[in-house]
Amino acid sequence: MLKDISSLLGNKLELIQASGGNTSYKENGIMWIKASGKSLASSKMDDIFIPLAIDPIINSIISKTEIETKFKPLIKTDLKASIETGLHAVIPYSFVLHTHPLDVIALSVVEGSKALFSRLLDGIDWTWIDYVKPGEALSKVIYKSINDNLTKVFILKNHGLIVAGDDIDQALDLQNNVLSRLKTKERNVTSPNVKNLEQIIMTLNKNDINAYLPDALKIHSLATDSWSMKLAKMNPLYPDHLVFCGLKPLIHSQESIKRIRKGDIINFTYSIIKEVGVILFSNCTQSTHSMLEAQSIINLRIPPLSCVNTLSNEDCNALCNWDAELYRIKISKSNQ
Ligand SMILES: [Zn+2]
Repeated sequence: MLKDISSLLGNKLELIQASGGNTSYKENGIMWIKASGKSLASSKMDDIFIPLAIDPIINSIISKTEIETKFKPLIKTDLKASIETGLHAVIPYSFVLHTHPLDVIALSVVEGSKALFSRLLDGIDWTWIDYVKPGEALSKVIYKSINDNLTKVFILKNHGLIVAGDDIDQALDLQNNVLSRLKTKERNVTSPNVKNLEQIIMTLNKNDINAYLPDALKIHSLATDSWSMKLAKMNPLYPDHLVFCGLKPLIHSQESIKRIRKGDIINFTYSIIKEVGVILFSNCTQSTHSMLEAQSIINLRIPPLSCVNTLSNEDCNALCNWDAELYRIKISKSNQ
């Protein structure tokens, strides 16, 4: 059952991008949780869930010990439990679904949006969680919020959504109800100048740089929609964008991109070419492509000139140098 639901969620870019998001099921003191770096989309083809004893995880969250060392699976496996194992353990329901819905991210990053969520989710019991680093910090905050009430819906600012329940169908219905209320309109996309992009790619190929066009046309809006590009220049809006796309994009004009050399793109997997479109370099993974598509949709759903809360420099530093995230990227690359 958890495999079916996870596959269903994992195959929707609206909810899950790359190896992001995670699901779990608890029974008799044991929790089955998605392994770090594995993608929910592959849950039916691949063994992505591992079992853990719940009590030691909760005890470590309550105490001040480092909780990640306590995430020991009950079976012999090379896989590691999801970064978010702690939050799944502390939520006292059989099923926990943690996704990264594009609408939730687009709405939650806008200053003052908590009041908007209150209006849109009127009648649903839900809890607002300010941004904290995923993993231990987020587990602790969720644990504290649960002491106050038994909500089944958590809106994670600059991050995503958690929906829980003892009945999987009811949990899914609840998730659908929440998401239908948060549906957000996108701005129209200006078509990219494909001819110009192809010329640029030809010039780069002559300079020994392999570049190609993204499959998803919408990604070009990061270059052709001025507000989307402005947002793309800011710090990332949510953790997985930073993890898979890097801190800042490489931005060029139609003229300057033709002058770049191999050494100039060593730390980049794509480039935004102002008002023209986006090109990908040969080191761009499928995960990065999904994240760029997600970013383009999110940016098109954020009203122009909104006051937007990005991750702070401190938040970004904490994610960039985190072993748990480096492990997750390694595993998700090996799955491609
Ligand atoms: Zn998450």
